[in-house]
Amino acid sequence: MKQVYIYDTTLRDGTQGEGFQLSGLDKLRIAKRLDEFGVDYIEGGWPGSNPKDVEFFREARNLELKHAKLAAFGSTRRANVKVEEDPQVRLLLEAKTPVVTIFGKSWELQVTEVLRTTVGENQAMIRDTVAHLVANGREVVYDAEHFFDGYKDDAGHALATLKAAAEGGASSLVLCDTNGGTLPFEVEEICNAVRKFLPDTPMGIHTHNDSELGVANAIAAVRAGASQIQGTINGYGERTGNCNLTSVIPILQLKMGIQVVNELERLRDISYFVDDVSNNPHFARAPFVGRTAFAHKGGMHVNAVQKLARSYEHIVPSSVGNAQVILISELSGQSNILLKAAELDMPLEKGAPEAAEILKRVKELEHVGYSFEAAGGSLELLIRREMGRYSKPFEAMEYHTSFRQYRDGHRPVCEATVKVTVNGQTELTVAEGNGVVNALDIALRKALMPFFPEIAEVSLVDYKVRILDGHDATAAKTRVLIVSAHGADTWGTVGVSENIIEASWLALVDGIDLFLQRR
Ligand SMILES: [Zn+2]
Repeated sequence: MKQVYIYDTTLRDGTQGEGFQLSGLDKLRIAKRLDEFGVDYIEGGWPGSNPKDVEFFREARNLELKHAKLAAFGSTRRANVKVEEDPQVRLLLEAKTPVVTIFGKSWELQVTEVLRTTVGENQAMIRDTVAHLVANGREVVYDAEHFFDGYKDDAGHALATLKAAAEGGASSLVLCDTNGGTLPFEVEEICNAVRKFLPDTPMGIHTHNDSELGVANAIAAVRAGASQIQGTINGYGERTGNCNLTSVIPILQLKMGIQVVNELERLRDISYFVDDVSNNPHFARAPFVGRTAFAHKGGMHVNAVQKLARSYEHIVPSSVGNAQVILISELSGQSNILLKAAELDMPLEKGAPEAAEILKRVKELEHVGYSFEAAGGSLELLIRREMGRYSKPFEAMEYHTSFRQYRDGHRPVCEATVKVTVNGQTELTVAEGNGVVNALDIALRKALMPFFPEIAEVSLVDYKVRILDGHDATAAKTRVLIVSAHGADTWGTVGVSENIIEASWLALVDGIDLFLQRR
């Protein structure tokens, strides 16, 4: 048994945040990464709130998660309705997840003013719903909404709602700081009181960052015996966000000696991955994983850091997959490359000259705007080239695109011409598409099909564009991330250019190239 379980709600509470949207495919990709990273629970969505989440749970059944348990989120039954007849509760069961998390009201004010029901009925709603889900074989997590505000208002009432959930058979009682206004010492005190009142049911914590205490409050709860932390990667979530798992996990593991995930050195990777997939810029000053988290500027610091890293670093950067910046070390950042190479069955020794070459190339490309966290396919090509495990399947000679818009209501026409050479043979093809990139993709595939017929089974499943501001790179550039698929296999590739069509072309060519390499 673990001392603390990590419950990730990036896919549900995270998507309540402004500017954080995920498609169904994005959610599946993130869920897979979270599982590999080692979180214990993945909350996938609220089937009762939108059909997209119902669809997600249907497709998530094919994910074959290795460790994490998938949770569907919803509310208790409505007032004065039999739980068996509540359609929202039925959808929770139809999601067919091993875990169901339901939230209920802890604050008397919410019960009487928002639900407009009685204290007794509210407790029955909680108890019935939990019991019904447990009877249907589910592990039930109970989220006590507004718990801390409710407790401060009327402790007896708030505790009675938890007792109802425990009586229903909840496997854990999660205290929520829904408005994010509670302070760490209050959290610790109230959690202690809850443990005393209900010592036999595990307690969890769900915090929001409105007072910039999301992480601190979660840690305070752990000190008072909480064994589950709910939060999101990079702290995404409504208003100012949720408890940031990207900070809480290394604090638990490196500073409190509480083991929660197996691959902590992938922390930085997953942080960038979620940013890239959701098309959000990376927060450079993010603790632990930010680009500047271990950056040293100024002669004296650099000098001291070179002599003794601990003098200006609170943890070893590589323990979270990050690296010291400024201090130019041959080994800095190599661990990520070594991990990736091992994954590809091309193991590299630490300090091998190939690893240094790959890292140098990665850094050069990152400097001009590339990002490989969600583009494992392009990184794989780079590693293959550097390790002599690459043979060029085709030469992309040239392309041309055009876009014609008519005034008279005809649909616009996009056309692309592509010229490729394979084994000295040149192929020139033209294709139309419903967009410039689509036309290019079709033309490229058409040109290569005579040589590699299996390309017909590859499809482009996602396309994302990000304009990089002039802050990091010198001029405004466009980064295009695409995801290609062949059966259940998917891979991401990236292209960067000042021109969006060229950036797309680079990513497309990499996508096809990688498929042919792997054959
Ligand atoms: Zn929340």
